[in-house]
Amino acid sequence: MIKEASIVGSGLSGPLLAILLSEKHKIKVTMYERNSDIRKTSSFSGRSINLALSERGINALKKADVYNTDFEKLLIPMYGRMIHNSDSTQEFQPYGNKKHHYINSVSRSKINKILLSQAERSKLVSINFSTKCTNIDLEKNNLYMNEKIIPFNGPVFGADGYRSAIAKKVAKKLIYKDIKHGYKELTIKPKGDDFQIDPNALHIWPRKDMMVIALPNNDKSFTCTLFMKKTGILSFDSIKTKKDIFSFFEQNFTDLIDLIPNIDKYFLNNPTGNLISVDVNNWVYNDKACLIGDAAHAIVPFYGQGMNASFEDCYILSDILNEQISWKSTFKTFYKRRKKDADAISELAFKNYDTMKKKVLDQNYIDKYKLGLELNDMFPDYFIPEYTMVSFTNIPYNKVIERNKIQDKILNKILSYDSLPKKEVLEDIVKKNITKLNCEKNC
Ligand SMILES: Cc1cc2nc3c(=O)[nH]c(=O)nc-3n(C[C@H](O)[C@H](O)[C@H](O)COP(=O)(O)OP(=O)(O)OC[C@H]3O[C@@H](n4cnc5c(N)ncnc54)[C@H](O)[C@@H]3O)c2cc1C
Repeated sequence: MIKEASIVGSGLSGPLLAILLSEKHKIKVTMYERNSDIRKTSSFSGRSINLALSERGINALKKADVYNTDFEKLLIPMYGRMIHNSDSTQEFQPYGNKKHHYINSVSRSKINKILLSQAERSKLVSINFSTKCTNIDLEKNNLYMNEKIIPFNGPVFGADGYRSAIAKKVAKKLIYKDIKHGYKELTIKPKGDDFQIDPNALHIWPRKDMMVIALPNNDKSFTCTLFMKKTGILSFDSIKTKKDIFSFFEQNFTDLIDLIPNIDKYFLNNPTGNLISVDVNNWVYNDKACLIGDAAHAIVPFYGQGMNASFEDCYILSDILNEQISWKSTFKTFYKRRKKDADAISELAFKNYDTMKKKVLDQNYIDKYKLGLELNDMFPDYFIPEYTMVSFTNIPYNKVIERNKIQDKILNKILSYDSLPKKEVLEDIVKKNITKLNCEKNC
């Protein structure tokens, strides 16, 4: 097998893959990134400012020896959702029932910088910044960069995000799913030297057709994201003037005006981002190319899993490389093993938009959610709520969907009783319907 590889894109998944290929497989890696080196610029023009990192991402970072005590210091734990109702009351919904059931808010640029530096620490990795790939010729083994032709020796990994130039050549079909909603970021500044709202929760202002979420930052600010329709009545398009902005927030998110007095400035100055999910129908080309991360499976951000799934890709590919004798068989196995999980998390992410903006307000949903956590307490090897499986375990995403369909039926059955049945009855219902899981960790 040729011990050389190229990676296009040095966002989140590119450098993690470079670390694994160079450190674990002694492969010489050449990376190409269209932007300049973010470690040398003060502004960061990436997507969302902060991200939720959970078990799958952490697991991958550990495998690449990136996750250590210094890294942990960057993380702010969020133990559940803080729901902000229209009448300004708040209600906390925990993510799980164990001490380690929390997700972590982390700065996108900080993770990116750490990964780039760690990749470069390996003598086998070189990164070419300000080098945009415009095309790849898979027959002649050429990459087209800034109008230069660069021949490649060894495979090319497309880690160039949801508008991947490599995917355009590798994929048989790209299906872009646009949910017609967009997003805009706003900032809740610190008050003096403190956070204005609880830093250990992911805050949600659910309003059925739209929502605002807020994740804490280390400088005691919060990055808020408003998700709503891009066009039509009550949409980003319909809010144009300072007066429109204040009247929109007064009607829908009153308490945010107190938290963000200059909300109009953020609204007018920050761009409206698109929420794109891409179904890429083929990720590999012989022994020559393979897509990872968003290039292979960009998803909507509502489960906070895009980066986590992209990191998971990297170590799964690295593990498969240990078992296989050629790049071709590695890529084939990777696609076969991973595509169904990518489809599953894409489906779960779409579904979670509805959960976050609407269902968290619904008493039936809340009762079911609480019962799920109780059943998990009673039968931890059998009943694992969907959110727990996705965020706190490494159970393959497609298995999460399979198991959750059964669990949903179990919950409906139990809730159809007039009162909560005795533990023996519950045990019978649960154990008869769902198999025991030998979950190595965190179930
Ligand atoms: C609003 C929002 C919130 C999100 N929140 C979360 C969250 O809480 N948790 C989570 O896990 N995920 C989240 N995500 C998803 C996450 O951002 C992505 O899944 C993740 O960035 C994917 O990493 P990547 O390396 O595959 O792609 P990217 O991070 O997009 O990196 C791609 C890199 O390739 C470079 N590039 C692109 N084209 C070229 C080219 N032609 N030539 C050279 N270089 C190129 C880009 O400059 C970039 O550096 C969120 C996404 C959005 C939009």
